[in-house]
Amino acid sequence: IFADIQIAKPIEVFALIADYNKDEFKEKVNLSVGAYRDTDGKPWVLPIVRRVEAQMASDPTLNHEYLPVAGLVDFRKAAIKLLLGEEDSRYGGVQAPGGTGTLRLAAAFTKKFFGCDTVFVSKPTWGNHKGIFSDAGFSNIVEYRYWNAEEKGLDYDGMLEDLRNAPPKSVVILHAVAHNPTGVDPTQDQWEGIAKVCREQDIFVVMDCAYQGFASGNLDTDAWSCRYFKDQGFEFFICQSFSKNFGLYNERVGNLCVVAKDCDAKMKTLSQLELIVRTAWSNPPNHGARIVATVLNSPQAYEQWKNDIHTMSQRILLMRQQLLSKLKAIGCPGTWDHITKQKGMFSYTGLNAQQSDMLLKKYHIYIMKSGRINMCGLTPANIDYVAEAINAVVTE
Ligand code: PLP
Repeated sequence: IFADIQIAKPIEVFALIADYNKDEFKEKVNLSVGAYRDTDGKPWVLPIVRRVEAQMASDPTLNHEYLPVAGLVDFRKAAIKLLLGEEDSRYGGVQAPGGTGTLRLAAAFTKKFFGCDTVFVSKPTWGNHKGIFSDAGFSNIVEYRYWNAEEKGLDYDGMLEDLRNAPPKSVVILHAVAHNPTGVDPTQDQWEGIAKVCREQDIFVVMDCAYQGFASGNLDTDAWSCRYFKDQGFEFFICQSFSKNFGLYNERVGNLCVVAKDCDAKMKTLSQLELIVRTAWSNPPNHGARIVATVLNSPQAYEQWKNDIHTMSQRILLMRQQLLSKLKAIGCPGTWDHITKQKGMFSYTGLNAQQSDMLLKKYHIYIMKSGRINMCGLTPANIDYVAEAINAVVTE
């Protein structure tokens, strides 16, 4: 019975990583991966995570019992406070396997209880958004304009125009900060305009917050958009991921934050989300959430974590500045200032599919077809090589 199954299309980012690992070219560079890399291009375990893991390993009170269906209480409470800056009985959280798990919960809930069928995603967006919502039963996946290729910035007017056409019972996914893949975020004034349209059209907002700390290096600054929607009285979901800001990619740590109008509405929503969890994964994994809870609930560990975030965000900033100045120094045609204006881990270079393909085939520089690069794939050792190669494909 399996013989007639069609082979699935490869997932671009994982296929690139597999090809990169096989490649024996000495100067190969991986700019496709969606994870932080240190100055030597190596995965980085945050020092605070190492420290907490060492403590956990020798703690006799810890065991491997199931967590509650909605996850670790200390984790959920601290995660919400980190995001919204305060506690309130109308906020609640459900732990899930990564940001992906929280998005899946948001999709299942809005489908089941609000009867939603249409989801608006930015054009472009993180590769998994469409699949998550369509697998959860959304039949209408609509892209709203976002990236203005000419200006290499936000197509704000196009975005608002598209959202104004949203049919009733629409969901919109908004990237809270450090938009993936473009690195282009709305300004505070623009967020206000976006909120206004969501209100007018009665669009249900799902904020995707996967990079808190990565845009500005400051956790509060990066939570601005989420706090604004909360202060405006929206009832909405925030899909919180700790994969990037704790470097806990394979531990699958996420929190679906519910902002409801009051405690009663929150309790009802959480109870239904628990039932969705029960049939999906029954209860979430412990290890990563316990690390996050330990750090967020200890003032000293929290300070150390902030230093680790600073290390990551500063390295990314430095690579942005250096790539820009190298491209300028070698006289690479075109404008490249967007590289330092964009925020977070990624830069949408503006390189087209053909140029990206040439970087891959001729220079062994692994880059997504869209021209998105992970800034931390750049290191002091490879940045000259990458700048020269970009210049070569642009002038070809
Ligand atoms: N949302 C966005 C915008 C992302 O970029 C990612 C991961 O790359 C996620 C969600 C999912 O994160 P996680 O790995 O925690 O599932």
